[in-house]
This record gives sequence, structure tokens and C-alpha cells, in this order.
Amino acid sequence: MDGGGGSGSGGGGGTAVTARDGPPLRPVAADEVAPDVRGRRASAAEAAATLAALKRFMATRVVPLEGAHAAHAADAATKWTPFPPMEVLKAAARAARLWNLFLPPSLGGSYSAVQYAPLAAVMGSVVWASEAFNCSAPDTGNMELLARLASPGQRARWLAPLLAGTIRSCFGMTEPAVASSDATNLGATATTAPSGEALILRGQKWWTSGGLDPRCRLCVLLVRDPPGERSPPEAATPHNQHTLLLLPLPHPGVSLDRPLTVYGYDDAPHGHGVLTLASAVLPLDPSPVLGARGGGFAGAQARLGGGRLHHCLRLVGAGERALALALARAGQREAFGRRLAAHGVVLDGLGRSRADLDAARLLALDAAAALDALDAMDGRGGGAAASARPPCGWRAPKSRSSRRLCRHRWGG
Ligand SMILES: Cc1cc2nc3c(=O)[nH]c(=O)nc-3n(C[C@H](O)[C@H](O)[C@H](O)COP(=O)(O)OP(=O)(O)OC[C@H]3O[C@@H](n4cnc5c(N)ncnc54)[C@H](O)[C@@H]3O)c2cc1C
Repeated sequence: MDGGGGSGSGGGGGTAVTARDGPPLRPVAADEVAPDVRGRRASAAEAAATLAALKRFMATRVVPLEGAHAAHAADAATKWTPFPPMEVLKAAARAARLWNLFLPPSLGGSYSAVQYAPLAAVMGSVVWASEAFNCSAPDTGNMELLARLASPGQRARWLAPLLAGTIRSCFGMTEPAVASSDATNLGATATTAPSGEALILRGQKWWTSGGLDPRCRLCVLLVRDPPGERSPPEAATPHNQHTLLLLPLPHPGVSLDRPLTVYGYDDAPHGHGVLTLASAVLPLDPSPVLGARGGGFAGAQARLGGGRLHHCLRLVGAGERALALALARAGQREAFGRRLAAHGVVLDGLGRSRADLDAARLLALDAAAALDALDAMDGRGGGAAASARPPCGWRAPKSRSSRRLCRHRWGG
């Protein structure tokens, strides 16, 4: 995962900039991803049929591979290579039209955020499954950004292969040196070379999820424009200092290494890397700038909306899976002469988990509905919509605590 793409609104003061200030949208055209995208919003019946098909696919194709995936990820010789059956799963999912489900109608996709919510939760019930449907972070957020901001040439070079699932990407924003939840702090720079023909990149990013995947070919990079390059300098505000760049990988002067761990897990082969920019030279032709120079803060905010919401929904799905396993165990295991489920304290924990998960799901759906409302207006308010829901950060802990309770039911 990519941590939801990270930063909050940041800055504390100054003029808030939103993705609404960006150029008009150019939805993904059918011929860019045909036949995967309907190009119109799915009806309620179509969305229900997709959910049923997705559940079938998960039960018959994905869940049976969980053991093989665990073995692959546990073996030091294979863990940093893609899981071999993944390409077979991707082909099958694409053929079944279970592909690019995350793309909202305003960008040429089929499912509103509310319609996508149960789909994301079902995919999240197996932590590595979203990739099979081309719905995994950080590619989804990057594809949304490219669909919103990329030039025709950038779309052909980067968006098309990402939508087809033939390459992967990462998002380089967070930096070890500064508090990155306030994105106005970010300091890695892109300075125009004396020749005027390239940018010189300097700095360090970390938690660059997906950057260690051998299939990663693109980093969407958030960099600071040096003050001298802003004209006139007095027009600079905290929110127009940054620019999004498309950095091809691998690239001379750019290293991605040192997988970071979360509670001991390195999430191989995806990985969360440390990205070092050692005076890397990035040619300005073709333009690597995504959107406008100085528009990076707004672009990163727009990326947050779906990113946060999708992570929350996947966690709800993981929580549902844990609860189902705990219920099965509690109904079958006996301790002190009774099934676990007959012990009041066990029942209490299961009941609280049920309530927590329902609360988390309803809050996520509430944020999804807000996102849809803005999407229907102009399709560019995503970040604002999710940020406007205070309990956003609360859902993940809720789902985590219910998964912990469910794990206890298995003892050991
Ligand atoms: C698994 C994982 C994957 C990630 N993937 C990516 C990725 O792909 N790309 C990327 O760029 N980043 C990624 N991140 C990084 C993540 O986005 C950042 O960790 C996050 O934005 C916070 O920044 P920070 O770590 O610098 O924390 P800091 O900004 O230093 O914050 C430290 C603490 O202070 C709290 N805090 C900050 N501001 C306030 C405030 N105003 N009020 C109250 N509390 C506050 C924060 O909540 C946090 O607890 C990932 C992180 C994880 C764990």
C-alpha cells in the first residue's frame, strides 16, 4: 500500500489550493483501455452483478492461492520477485471485466465511489488481491492523477501501460528530514540545469511504496521549485512551491533501496523504499512535468481522496475476513466444556468487532458519498471530500482492533 498517499492539507495558513484549479478533465477514452471501461456509470444492477462476480472470483481463484503466496513471500530467494500466478489472475480478471474498477465515471470509469466501496472491501479481504484487478495502490492514485493532469504524450507513455497493468509505479512524496504530513515542508528540489534542457533532482524520499517492485517503471515525484525559479518571487505562497514530475525508473542518479518495515513486514515484492536523488538529471524534453509547475501541492491533495478511502475500505474487508474466521473458530473450538462462542467474554468481543466494522464501513460510505457528490459536480474535489470527514483516520484503527480481537479467538 502507499499509506493513502500521505499528507494532509498542510500549511496551517495561506490560501488553500484545491485540484479545482487544475486544467479541465480529459476522461480516459474507450480506445485507451478497451474493452475494460464502460465509459458510463454502471447501473445498480450492473454494480451488484460485478460484486457477485468479484466474490466468485475471489473464492475460486484468489483464496485457493493464499498458501502459495505465503510460501512465495516467506522465501528469501523469491520474495522480491512478482508472485508467478499473478499474471494469470490478471488476465482472467480482465477477461471477466473485473479490471480498473477504481476509475470513477468522471475519468471514464464505471463505478461511483459508493459503488466501488464494497468491491474494494472484497478485494481487501486478501491483502495482495487488489493487484489482480489492477486496483492496487499506489498505481490507482497515480492513474487517477495521470488521467486528470497528463498531456497526450504522457498519457500514451505512462497511463496506457498502467491501465493495461503492464508496468507498475510509485509515488515519492514523504521525506525523512521533514514532517511530511504537512506537504508544504517537503524539500527535495528540482533545479533547472544551466543548459535549460534538464532538471537536476536532489533530495531523499522514503516510504516510497512499490518502488522496490522490479516492474516499477515510473515514480510520480513531488519536488520543490527553488525560490529563484519562481517569477515573480513575491507571488510564491506555501501552496505553489511544489511540482509533480514523472520520473522514469530505473534512472541514473536515482537509487531505491532499504526496504522499510511495518511491524516487521516488508510487504515484498511491493516494498516501501528509500529513494535518493543524487543530482539526477531529468531531461525537459519530453516534458516530465505533470500538470502545471507550482501545481504539485494541489495535485497531491487531489490524489489523497480516493487513496485514503480505498485503504479504509480494504481494511474493512480485511476485518470482515478476520471476523468470519473468528466466528468459525468460536463455533467449533471447545474450552472448559463449552464452545468458545458460549463464553460471554468471547461473544462480547465478537459483538464489539461486528459493531466496529459496521461503524467503519458506514463512515467510509459516508465519505464515498461526499466524494461522489463532488465528482458529479466537476470531478475534481476528491481530496477535499475525504479530508472533510473527520473520522477518516479513525476507521483503520477500528478495523485493526477488531482484527486483533478476532486473532485472539484463534489462541496461540
Ligand atoms: C505503509 C506505508 C506506506 C506509505 N506509502 C507512501 C508512499 O507510497 N509515498 C509517500 O510519499 N509516502 C508514503 N507513506 C508515508 C506517509 O504518507 C507519511 O508517513 C505520512 O504522510 C506522515 O508523514 P511523516 O511520516 O513525515 O510524519 P510526521 O509528519 O512527522 O508526523 C508525525 C506524527 O505527528 C502527527 N501530526 C502531524 N501533524 C499533526 C497535526 N497538525 N495535528 C496533530 N498531529 C499531527 C502525525 O499524525 C504523526 O502521528 C507511507 C507510510 C506507510 C506507513
